Amino acid sequence: MTSRKRKIETIAAQAGVGTDKAYGAVSVPIYMSAIYRYERFGKNRGFDYSRGENPTRRAVEKSLADLEGGSRAVAFSSGMAAISALMTLFRTGDHILCSDDLYGGTYRLFEKLLRPYGLAFDYVDMGNPDAVRKKIRAKTKALFIETPTNPLMKIADLRGAARIGREKGILTVVDNTFMSPLLQQPLSLGIDVVVHSATKFLGGHNDLIGGAVVTTDGAVGEKIAFAQKAIGAIPSPFDCWLLLRGIKTLAIRVTRAQGNAEALAEFLSSHPAVGKVYYPGLPDHPRRELHFSQASGAGSIISFDLKREKSVPAFLSALKTILLAESLGGVESLITHPSTMTHADIPLEEQAEVGLTPSLVRLSVGIEDRGELQDDLSRALRRAVPGR
Ligand code: PLP
Repeated sequence: MTSRKRKIETIAAQAGVGTDKAYGAVSVPIYMSAIYRYERFGKNRGFDYSRGENPTRRAVEKSLADLEGGSRAVAFSSGMAAISALMTLFRTGDHILCSDDLYGGTYRLFEKLLRPYGLAFDYVDMGNPDAVRKKIRAKTKALFIETPTNPLMKIADLRGAARIGREKGILTVVDNTFMSPLLQQPLSLGIDVVVHSATKFLGGHNDLIGGAVVTTDGAVGEKIAFAQKAIGAIPSPFDCWLLLRGIKTLAIRVTRAQGNAEALAEFLSSHPAVGKVYYPGLPDHPRRELHFSQASGAGSIISFDLKREKSVPAFLSALKTILLAESLGGVESLITHPSTMTHADIPLEEQAEVGLTPSLVRLSVGIEDRGELQDDLSRALRRAVPGR
């Protein structure tokens, strides 16, 4: 192999290749073993107990680190387990400044579970570095960023955040779930830590729950690996293998879904029953330029408002090809109602403050035939909005 830097498409397709030292298996074996025999007292082959280390998990962790350009990745049993492990870096009294339109589950963890332990959380528009600076306190220890946000597709300024982090000695963290490393690599922009729900684009097939923390900071990597072992929220060897298998097709899946999403975003923008469409690929997205300065594509998640809030249930129930289900980033197109489903734990007043209305739906576009997806939306909109 040459020493030239490998492209992400190659890294993804060859996920796990070369890690099986025993027989050179191209598909990483699933090491369904909880324990490993010592050769003699005090000497094993680098593995003793699978909560601490497992060869299949080690292979997927290597692949995740390579994809994000990190020096270390640590895999978890879910995205929330990954974020929970990350939070063990902080202590009572620490303040964490977050994107103001956060995934509902992350908000739930921060507000309902961690605030009672004495951690303080604040929310701010991460696309506005002045607003971020104003909210920083002496005890601020981290910026926790989503971009685009879930579900309103607000864009953060990643280079700006990295600059603030460096200046003030604050850890910068990006939840890169919505973009996947194919479209956005925050570590290359100076961000310290990336977290993922691997359940989404990385796995890609709606068949596993997983998560990861990836970093360029050796000390942070060590602490997260320790938290993985101490807490034990590890993915099974089979899930690690599924994740490796999903990663291999990351590039073609994400590219195709994005092509579909671009077309559907345009279709929805000009539909008379549809209000605002939130998609960074549209020319009128307020931070389109910022987004494309730090990501190579708009992705495949589109949020949009129906003009008539009352039509939402009928619209969602009328869809046939697009599945009413709570996730995103898989090969199947899924649609959700964030206000009552994924973000139900955020109080209605706070939802309203950031613009998350009950008329908003979030579409995760899959890799199906574009025409069929458009027909499905078109028919459901017609059914839901009588007279059209
Ligand atoms: N981060 C984002 C942006 C998400 O959308 C989700 C899940 O929807 C998570 C984190 C949590 O991941 P998991 O469901 O794998 O725990």
